[in-house]
Amino acid sequence: MTEAFCVKEKAKREMNGEIEVQMKNGRRALQGTCVSCGTKMFRILAKANQAGPLAFNSPLQNEPLVAPQTN
Ligand SMILES: [Zn+2]
Repeated sequence: MTEAFCVKEKAKREMNGEIEVQMKNGRRALQGTCVSCGTKMFRILAKANQAGPLAFNSPLQNEPLVAPQTN
């Protein structure tokens, strides 16, 4: 279960049926419904999250080039 802020109750509630979605800017978020009142909830995930303990320590922040130029 993930905790998120319920805008209807203005309180922290647990999220039900959470799914991970990707936003337009490439960041990931969790979407679900409030277990208390059923309001849709949305929680933006931090860049480094619990999904990969050490995987996010990679120094490669930039996306690799798809096709390196060869002259
Ligand atoms: Zn709620």
